[in-house]
Amino acid sequence: MSRLWKWCMLLAIMAGVPLLLGIDGCGASPLGIDEQTEIQIGQQAAADIEQQYGVITGTAQAQRVNRIGQAIAARSERPGLPWSFRILNVSDVNAVSLPGGPIYVTRGLLEAGVSDAELAGVLAHEVAHVNQRHSVAAIRRAMTYDLLSDLVFGRSSAALQTAVNVAVQYAVQLPRSREAEYESDSIGIRLAYNAGYPAGGLVTFFQRLQQISGPQTAPSWMRTHPTTADRIARAQQIVAQVQGQPRPVPVALLQREVKEIKAVATEKSYEPQVRLLPE
Ligand SMILES: [Zn+2]
Repeated sequence: MSRLWKWCMLLAIMAGVPLLLGIDGCGASPLGIDEQTEIQIGQQAAADIEQQYGVITGTAQAQRVNRIGQAIAARSERPGLPWSFRILNVSDVNAVSLPGGPIYVTRGLLEAGVSDAELAGVLAHEVAHVNQRHSVAAIRRAMTYDLLSDLVFGRSSAALQTAVNVAVQYAVQLPRSREAEYESDSIGIRLAYNAGYPAGGLVTFFQRLQQISGPQTAPSWMRTHPTTADRIARAQQIVAQVQGQPRPVPVALLQREVKEIKAVATEKSYEPQVRLLPE
């Protein structure tokens, strides 16, 4: 047992809620959600979301979204996941990702006239959320020890359904932490660039959103993905570092970025408040 692990166990026991806190530093937790379970949660959540909102298939736009998305996913650190890129029949401007690979953009996002570079920027940002298992971490934080244990050991369908509910809620309603956003911007900009697109697509997408949104009409992307001036400035810095470099650029975060992200992670007000939905 590693020293880190002992500390994690001790902290968890002291907290009285063993391993409930989803301390992701304890990567080897026996209650870690494995990739197969992650995929299962994501596939079921995808079926729920598609049933609720409807999907647009068989169009030139549907092919465009899938083609750009697959090119980016192939450059991620998890190329073997069952990635899918689809259009939700929703007029609001948004993009969402689910555990293990399903990613969606809305009809409204495409109707806003996004360029291929902007679409690549958005899709790569969502691929980065999956690459970093952000929604898996949210599921671990939200579930009780008993439910998580039932999920991990496949003991109850109720536990799986709870995880699916959390994944859907996290995808469509809850604001991400600034930490998760910074991480996904950093990695996403590099993934889009490595897939052959200009690095600045995500930044021009942010600027487009700011133009089309008034105080009453903020697109839902801006509710789930707080787009602050800080965030845009930071993304512009990454674009400046990446653009013009020989492809592929390394995807992993720089030491300096890890430090920056750790610093914002201590700002508790940005933590997403995941709640369990009623059964
Ligand atoms: Zn995001």
